[in-house]
Amino acid sequence: MDQYRLINRTQPYPFESLRGFLMRCAGANHYRSHQEILQYALGASSTNPQVEQTEIPRLAIYTRNSVNELSQLSGISRQVPRKGREWKILGEWLSKSTFLKLRHAPICPRCLQEQPFLQGAWHLAFNTACWKHRCQLIDRCPQCKRQLALSRRQPEYCECGFDLRKSDSLPAEAEQLLIARIIVNRSDGPLNLDSACIPANQVENLARLSLDGLCHSLWFLGHHLLGNFPLSKGSGLRKLDDRETREMIAAVCWLLSDWPSRLNQALSRQIALNSKWSGDNATMRLLGPIQRYYESHIGSCDFRFISSPYEAFVRQLVKQARIKTRPSRLDSPQLELDLS
Ligand SMILES: [Zn+2]
Ligand SMILES: [Zn+2]
Repeated sequence: MDQYRLINRTQPYPFESLRGFLMRCAGANHYRSHQEILQYALGASSTNPQVEQTEIPRLAIYTRNSVNELSQLSGISRQVPRKGREWKILGEWLSKSTFLKLRHAPICPRCLQEQPFLQGAWHLAFNTACWKHRCQLIDRCPQCKRQLALSRRQPEYCECGFDLRKSDSLPAEAEQLLIARIIVNRSDGPLNLDSACIPANQVENLARLSLDGLCHSLWFLGHHLLGNFPLSKGSGLRKLDDRETREMIAAVCWLLSDWPSRLNQALSRQIALNSKWSGDNATMRLLGPIQRYYESHIGSCDFRFISSPYEAFVRQLVKQARIKTRPSRLDSPQLELDLS
C-alpha cells in the first residue's frame, strides 16, 4: 500500500489537531473527506475515529511527512496494558475520554481567521475559551445550530457550508480564561501568574500539574466538592455540557481563592448532605465517593497542595467521629492505612 501516497504534502502546525491536519490534507489533495485518507493509508473503517500511535509511521509515509512531525499532533490514541486507552493532546497523554472532545470540538473564530487550522487544545473538555482573543470557544454552527463535527471537510467551514470565521463570539469569564491559559502553557510559552481569580501560588500549583493531573484536579474540586451534581448516581466521570463545565471551573476558582478554608467549608457541606453514605471505615462512611476519587486520582505527591489540607481535614474529622461514636481498636490500623 506504501507506493500510494498523497501528491501534495501538507505541513502540520505545532500542536495541531490530527483530525484538522487530515482535513487539510484531504482538501489539498481533492479527497472527499479525511476519513478517505485514513481508509487508504491505514485501512481504517469510516466510523472509527481512533488513530493508533502504532499507525503513525504508515500515516507519515502516506502524507509525505516525518514520524516526528505527525507524532506531535493532538488526538493520537494508544492502548496501555493494565491502564486502558490514552489520548495524546499537546504532547501529553490523557487517561479519560471524559476530559476530551474527539468527535466534536469547538473553535475560536478569530484564531481560524488568523490561520485556518484546528488547535489540539480545542480537544480538551476544560478548555472553553481562547485566552488570546479573550472569547468563549464556539461549539455549534451559528447557521445550522449543529455541533461542529470533526468529520467535516474543512476546519473553517461547517458541514452546512457556513464560514466559521464569520461567527460572533462572546467574551469569556476570567475563570475560563485562566484555565485556558494554564492549558496552553505547554504550547504558548511562559505563564503570567497574576490572576484576578486565584492567588499566584495557586495558579502555579495548577500550572505545575500534568494535563491529566489538571483535569483530575478540576474534576475532584469542582464535581466532588462543589458541584450540584448528584453523587448518588455514581462518582464516575461523565461528559459535561458547556454550561456545567463553566460552572465547574468557576467552582474550582472559588475554592482556590480562599484555600484551604473553603475546602473545609465544602467538605463539611458534603458531609451534611450525604450523611448516609456507607463504606468500610470511618473515612469512607463520612466522605464516600469523594474519598474514593481522591484515593484513585489525587493521592500522589504531585497534588500536595490539595492532598495536605484534604488529609488534615479528614484526620480531624475521624478524630471527632471516633469520640462521638463507639471507639474501636479495630478501626485504628485501618484508618492509619487509609490516611497515611
Ligand atoms: Zn482565538
Ligand atoms: Zn452549520
